[in-house]
Amino acid sequence: MDTQITKTDFIQYLKCPKSVWLLKRSPDTYPHGEFSTFLQKITREGYEVERYVKQSFKEDPERTADFQVTYETEDGLFARIDALEKNTDGECILYEIKSSTSVKTDKKHNHIKDACFQKICAERAGQRIDRVYIVHLNGKYCREGEIDTSAFLTFTDVTDRVAELTSETEVEIDAALKLVGETDIDRNGCSCLRKSRSNHCDTFALFNPGVPKQSIYSLPRLDDKKRNNFIAKGILDLNDVPDAYPLSSTQEMMLRSAKASEPQVNHLEIEEFLAGLLFPIYFFDFETYSSAVPLVDRASPHKHIPVQYSLHILGADGALMHKEFLEREAQLPRRLIEQMETDFGEEGSVVSWHASFEEKQNREMGNWFPEKAEFLTGINSRMVDLEGVFKSSYVDARFDGSTSIKKVLPVVCPELNYQDLDVQDGSTAMETWERLIGSKDEAADEIADNLLRYCERDTLAMVEIYRFLIAL
Ligand code: SF4
Repeated sequence: MDTQITKTDFIQYLKCPKSVWLLKRSPDTYPHGEFSTFLQKITREGYEVERYVKQSFKEDPERTADFQVTYETEDGLFARIDALEKNTDGECILYEIKSSTSVKTDKKHNHIKDACFQKICAERAGQRIDRVYIVHLNGKYCREGEIDTSAFLTFTDVTDRVAELTSETEVEIDAALKLVGETDIDRNGCSCLRKSRSNHCDTFALFNPGVPKQSIYSLPRLDDKKRNNFIAKGILDLNDVPDAYPLSSTQEMMLRSAKASEPQVNHLEIEEFLAGLLFPIYFFDFETYSSAVPLVDRASPHKHIPVQYSLHILGADGALMHKEFLEREAQLPRRLIEQMETDFGEEGSVVSWHASFEEKQNREMGNWFPEKAEFLTGINSRMVDLEGVFKSSYVDARFDGSTSIKKVLPVVCPELNYQDLDVQDGSTAMETWERLIGSKDEAADEIADNLLRYCERDTLAMVEIYRFLIAL
């Protein structure tokens, strides 16, 4: 049984002690989930950034650092320090490397706590640490040729901030060690019972087996007071919520949908939405690529670059045409915009799902290519968000509290799905495009085809959802 506590375990402990106990003491019952494509990409990017940190040390003959230095303590802590510098003054400096563009201390990440854990572990193992730095990326860095490490990397001294947190973190670490030493815990319920679904981890169902699938957590934007009120009355199942309970109109629709086992539809609002669409209707979707280390000149860390699109054009006579574009080289999207200029006519609505994303890409592309800004702004002025209909005018409890196209499509158009495709989600598309640009042989055509079919399915899904709404 692995009861050693790493930085990752400790950070998870701070969010939820019970889940760490389960992970350490009962790993067979811990729902590990998949190491998603997204997480794999983040891990790869971390190593890539570390390469540039190593390079920056090499570029300075006065400084040397050891990387991936490990410390273990007798009481059960383990730390792998990203970089440790022992400078000529005898000072020992700990570097925690992050691929983000700032030092984060939000609900999800606390880089200072990460560094604090590493320092405490190293010191308990007998290593003195004088200063602590977070190395992160400069979000304003714009690539020009080879990566300039001095402009790309930001070294932020967090020694004082770590010192402020040290005594509190020492206490938390000891509590974490004590907890994983326990042979059992109370498995009856967990504190997320009082929090919204976005806080729940994969372990929620294990600790709360009495919560049904269609529960109060499916009610969109339910405030804490109402959630706690339900829990105090023992109401978890949506079917047990009294009809007269004061809820917002969308929450009421969700409740009615769950109780009646059928969707709740505001026909008037949907009619108005459909009547506002102008033919030809352009169903449009981008796929983008982003990376911590900017791939091409004029790109910045984590900035999205549109690399492909799919466009279904529906005429007033019902004729449907498909256009598509896929960039196969690492470069800014000039060719993509030029193809858009050919494919888009001057009139007609542009329909996207979660249109704010497409609008943002158009604005960013206008910044890269000011001579194209007028065309791209024109596209944005015609943009309509199909997802909005499913936020308030068509509510179905089977969407599971989400309005993502991947949740809506299988319910309203079950005959159309993504299961026959090699690429089935945006993260995989991004990773696949990365393989495409590095691929020179005949495999490249197959990879390209997989990407094209995925993006095409997204816009075809919008067409079918539109037809479904018309049929209503
Ligand atoms: S759902 Fe339960 S086990 Fe998971 S993070 Fe929340 S409190 Fe912890």
